[in-house]
Amino acid sequence: MAPITQSRNLLRTCPLCEAVCGLEITMDPDDHVTSVRGDRSDPFSKGFICPKGASFGHLDEDRDRVTEPLIRDRATGAWRTATWDEAFDYIAERFPAVVARHGAQSAAAYLGNPNAHTVAGTLYVPALLRALGTKNIYSASTADQMPKQVASGLMFGDPLTVPVPDLDRTDYLLMLGANPLESNGSLCTAPDFPGRLKALRGRGGRFVVVDPRVTRTAKLADEHLFIRPGSDAYLLFGIVHTLFAEQLTDLRVEVTGLDELRTAAAAFDPGTVSARTGVPASTIVRLARELAAAPTAAVYARIGTCTAEFGTITQWLVDAINALTGNLDSPGGAMFATAAAGGITRTKPFRPGRWTSRVRGLPEAMGELPVATLADEITTPGEGQIRALVTVAGNPVLSAPSGARLDEAFAQLDFMVSVDRYVNETTKHADVILPPPRPTQSPHYDFALLQFAVRNYTRYSRPLVPLGDRPSEPAVLARLAAALTGRPHDGSDGIDPLTAVDELVIAGMLHKAGIPERRGDLIGENSTEQRIDLMLRLGPYGEWNGGTLNLQVLLDNPHGIDLGPLQPRLPGVLRTASGRVDLAPQPLLDDVERMRARLSDAAPEIVLIGRRQLRSNNSWMHNIATLVSGSNRCTLHINPADVARLGLGDHAVVKSAAGTLTVPLEPTEAIMPGVVSLPHGWGHGDSAQTVARTHAGVNANVLTDDSVVDVPSGNAVFNGVPVTLAPA
Ligand code: SF4
Repeated sequence: MAPITQSRNLLRTCPLCEAVCGLEITMDPDDHVTSVRGDRSDPFSKGFICPKGASFGHLDEDRDRVTEPLIRDRATGAWRTATWDEAFDYIAERFPAVVARHGAQSAAAYLGNPNAHTVAGTLYVPALLRALGTKNIYSASTADQMPKQVASGLMFGDPLTVPVPDLDRTDYLLMLGANPLESNGSLCTAPDFPGRLKALRGRGGRFVVVDPRVTRTAKLADEHLFIRPGSDAYLLFGIVHTLFAEQLTDLRVEVTGLDELRTAAAAFDPGTVSARTGVPASTIVRLARELAAAPTAAVYARIGTCTAEFGTITQWLVDAINALTGNLDSPGGAMFATAAAGGITRTKPFRPGRWTSRVRGLPEAMGELPVATLADEITTPGEGQIRALVTVAGNPVLSAPSGARLDEAFAQLDFMVSVDRYVNETTKHADVILPPPRPTQSPHYDFALLQFAVRNYTRYSRPLVPLGDRPSEPAVLARLAAALTGRPHDGSDGIDPLTAVDELVIAGMLHKAGIPERRGDLIGENSTEQRIDLMLRLGPYGEWNGGTLNLQVLLDNPHGIDLGPLQPRLPGVLRTASGRVDLAPQPLLDDVERMRARLSDAAPEIVLIGRRQLRSNNSWMHNIATLVSGSNRCTLHINPADVARLGLGDHAVVKSAAGTLTVPLEPTEAIMPGVVSLPHGWGHGDSAQTVARTHAGVNANVLTDDSVVDVPSGNAVFNGVPVTLAPA
């Protein structure tokens, strides 16, 4: 092949958030990204790009990223570089020995949010977890969206069957605890979310935001309503109550549990929940009437409502209202995407709580235990105590509750391996760090995020830059899985670990489809691409399923393929025992009593909530100079009335049950009195990342309390944390 001597424009999907925007990337002859633009020919994102996407090149070759395996000397704390063989040998000598001494449950894994954005995270992490053979699996899901998945699992039978607002067709959108103008959307894959909201209003639709802050999204809305943090479930029950009381229900899907839902809502009339929520009863009644009267409507609630004490009940009621108003699975309402690959394979109804955590008895969900109890499981002696940990693309010291406890807990581990591009606040405890390649060296397909898209769409991006002599991320994970179990990781037994994983999966899928003889028909440059080809061929639009899609079709359409608007999918996607939508799952009815008991509780004087920032995504983009300048500021938003009432100056000492922080204040009328807001993911004071260290901020999760969880899902609670403030 002739050497490349000119800059070239290349296409790929942005891997940095859930919006899956198409990017057009200019690379110089030495494979450095020189500019990034939105891909105008992408039929879904149509050229949209945000500051994070525009900084993709800086992230791709961040000078502080880890490029070779690192091994830490436990005595001195010093890191040294190692070859890949040396690093895997080091792991193979030590990790299995810990497990042999203490049992399989002494091993644990933590998976960070970026795994949802990579091919490796989706296709190869499962094999890694199977190799570990432990029930101690943790992820960012239980610090984020697990309540939505548990609620969806109980209502629809599968936790991946999550309805999304049909943004482009709805006439009325009620949005709670979401700020897509900063986040670009979550559990609702919608590139150019802001443009879609403007279009909603432009076509005469109505858009209402409920949030303790006047967010940028709220400023775009027809109406913004302040609500006391953590009380969204009460508001939604008030709406359900009104729908029943005023006979406004209009069910258009087959359901069970209607009477039980009506009974559960009986205690939450708008007058009763008004004091708890801070939303006037008349407004709650009006919202119910507007939802019922709109030609089409959707309720959408996101992270602010998930990471709250009644997160799962909130998510349940969102879709209960969508169903009661005739908007579930209906154009313009809340609908289910039909993704081209990676859709549900479950045959039996979802069931959470199949096992519980050792120390606190918190429930499993989707094979995971709550991250809120990870520190307990490491620090509490006894059989099953975690002694060895694998993290993949995660920084729970900054992103999970009681981060300081986790920091101390990780220091106690016998052995820790991290697959990560940075030495960060979590991976500094690792014995070995295995770096993934640059994002431009990896393929991209959004298996997870396209399950939640507001329009059916597919796109595959090949790696833009050759790997050279380093392994791909799938190869790193496959070799790691072998090393963790003491199996040969280098192919010395004649079995390449990556090939072995892929062939096992491919053979299993072909066998299940009844076409084992088609193995030779799969195309692709490697076994990863062959797996993707197979998933596409067997998917709902697939060549082997009566459609046309396969990998070659996607390669021939590098801007992506529009697969049309969302289509009604009930009852086909249901996996409930009844075959109907369950409007009153028993585990959630059981939790209603806890809510009822809290109705008359006195509200804390001040509560803490989080805050999303456009140029930040959790903890991991703070080493990019173009992203940490500008609007990102790790300050405490506080209403000026509270500043005056408490006699505060520029800074305040904030105390919670979990810890104490001194933070700079940013008084603003945009936040309701009695509520303060601090973004999470900051606190890089002693970071090895040079840019992040100079924009350190404070770790908000010093204040969040890992002893408080949403009971049905075990999800951490970051919103509504009681705090006190004093002058610094
Ligand atoms: S909105 Fe998300 S996907 Fe789109 S460019 Fe920004 S970070 Fe990338």
